[in-house]
Amino acid sequence: MPMNFETVEVTTDLLIVGGGMAACGAAVEAAYWAKKNGLKVTLVDKAAMDRSGAVAMGLSAINQYLGVGKGKNTVEQYVEYVKQDLMGVARDDLVYNIARHVDGSVHLFEKWGLPIWKTEDGEYVNEGRWQIMINGESYKVIIAEAAKNALGMDNIYERVFIIEPLLDGDRIAGAVGFSVRENKFYVFKAKAVLAAMGGAVGVFKPRSTGEGLGRSWYPPFSTGSSAYFTIRAGAEMTCQEVRFIPVRFKDAYGPVGAWFLLFKSRATNAFGGEYMVERRDELQNWAPYGLVKPIPANLRNYLGMLDESEGKGPLFMRTEEAIANLAAAYKDDPKAFKKKMKELENEAWEDFLDMTIAQALLWAATNTAPEEKSSEIAAAEPYFIGSHSGASGAWVSGPEDIAPPEYFWGYANMTTVKGLFAAGDASGASSHKFSSGSHAEGRIAAKAAIKFIVENNTQPNVDPAKVEELKAATYKPLEVYEANKDFTTDPEVNPNYIKPKMFMFRLQKLMDEYVGGVTANFSTNKAKLDRAMELLGFLKEDAEKLAAKDLHELMRCWENIHRMWQAESHVRTVIFREETRWPGYYFRADYPKMDEENWLCFVNLKWDPATGQWDVFKKPIIRLFG
Ligand code: FAD
Repeated sequence: MPMNFETVEVTTDLLIVGGGMAACGAAVEAAYWAKKNGLKVTLVDKAAMDRSGAVAMGLSAINQYLGVGKGKNTVEQYVEYVKQDLMGVARDDLVYNIARHVDGSVHLFEKWGLPIWKTEDGEYVNEGRWQIMINGESYKVIIAEAAKNALGMDNIYERVFIIEPLLDGDRIAGAVGFSVRENKFYVFKAKAVLAAMGGAVGVFKPRSTGEGLGRSWYPPFSTGSSAYFTIRAGAEMTCQEVRFIPVRFKDAYGPVGAWFLLFKSRATNAFGGEYMVERRDELQNWAPYGLVKPIPANLRNYLGMLDESEGKGPLFMRTEEAIANLAAAYKDDPKAFKKKMKELENEAWEDFLDMTIAQALLWAATNTAPEEKSSEIAAAEPYFIGSHSGASGAWVSGPEDIAPPEYFWGYANMTTVKGLFAAGDASGASSHKFSSGSHAEGRIAAKAAIKFIVENNTQPNVDPAKVEELKAATYKPLEVYEANKDFTTDPEVNPNYIKPKMFMFRLQKLMDEYVGGVTANFSTNKAKLDRAMELLGFLKEDAEKLAAKDLHELMRCWENIHRMWQAESHVRTVIFREETRWPGYYFRADYPKMDEENWLCFVNLKWDPATGQWDVFKKPIIRLFG
């Protein structure tokens, strides 16, 4: 592989890093305000925007829609719901700000062509209180099209993997990355940067192995780049301990929302026992959160996990029972009954085909007819997805009109680094934004970023020596490989280097066994966490020896470096929080109880780019309502 890489410099006003839901929202909004102010906006995505990020495969529901205009819900009610689900740990101001704007994003989606299910009266079909049903196979294509039209393809760089932020003192100055297709190193110089590179998958060992490797609930493209980028810029982070574990159809990770909410299905254990009923008393131990409906996702997980650890698994989604119940009203009219059964069968399959095609394939491959037999469900491995039911991400400023002074520093969604904004999975303590809320938050952040640029309209300096240093570091794995590949007959194993896949396996194994992954039954303690830190230290040393045979493997190297930083920030915060607050996400066996007096707070963390020192500390939760 030739070692000459052209350096391409792009100077812009606002740089949007990422091309997912938040970035697409940001693009649309930024383009509008930039035009008014004569500014340039540039977007860079490691993949192709049409199918990049968590919505790549499509979705069958929009999970955040309030219907405020029709008086269906209030913004305050949504804030209550989110706080409750996160066991009290959420920023009211951020959740409020997204919730009051999210319906606007959904109405735009419909205008752009997204088919949303309607009742006979023309109302959206609700799946649950906050969720609406869509024909969403092409959801991301539609959202990306609007973003592309707004910015123009000349301002969009696809298949460029961003590795590091550029800084000018305490202000962001841009980012560097490399093309995963061409021999080009990119230097983006910007007055403000909006980080929206999604969350992280593949930090913990997945259940899938061998022929199933790469299959996970979270599509495998998001590898902790948001966390890495903001941490390395010196931004304060929050809720890095709040990971998410979804309970999904086993092995193909098919969604359960439609089954629980729309089909009103029950989940039972192997003996027919319903853990949500039989273990209700356990919820008292997690009061007040355990006693309010809807029961927080982690507690629902936990009750099922208790059944599993007592040997009562597998757990089953009772699909055949749910379908029979829904069709029961038609049983006296054979023709109507047949029609209803067909309709339910279609909906069941379409739910998977819209967003998790692999689950439909698994059903087909295992002769599963949902109207005839139950399907297994299981807790997946942990993920970092602050926009869903996790909460990890950067600590960002709230909106001027409602944030308390402690949570406001000039521009909505700006991190603690001047000019660096974050949205979607990249911003923390504002869970349950989902696809629509991430889009809305991207719009909020972009508008604020343009305001920042207008009020701070100077191009920060970029040190050319630093750029050269980063370029050398970027391509180092290619050199390590070239220099050493002939020392072994099998280039996969070599005493002088480590391939990214092996590196990933090591990271996943240590996280799984010591930090409460599937193998450890989601449980950990201080001794195990200390051991994880020790092993992470060795892994970090070996990161210097990562080797790549081509640009694709080079991307894999950097993905795993990003994952490793996400992992380290997680371990540090799990060690710091001496209680168990989200037992269905992780269990601190040495502190098995929730401690409201000492730990109803945020845990924040910061890495200092000047000294390399980490700092972990508490931040108070300031309530606006409730
Ligand atoms: P993403 O949309 O994931 O976008 C991340 C972007 O960053 C991508 O464009 C990616 O290519 C890019 N990127 C990553 N790393 C780099 C890098 N180093 N350099 C450059 N670019 C990079 N929401 C709902 O409303 N309804 C649902 O039913 C629903 N189901 C879900 C099911 C699953 C399995 C998952 C994972 C999520 C689901 N969500 C759902 C949530 C929704 O998908 C997310 O909330 C939303 O996509 C988050 O937006 P984002 O922009 O932060 O990240």
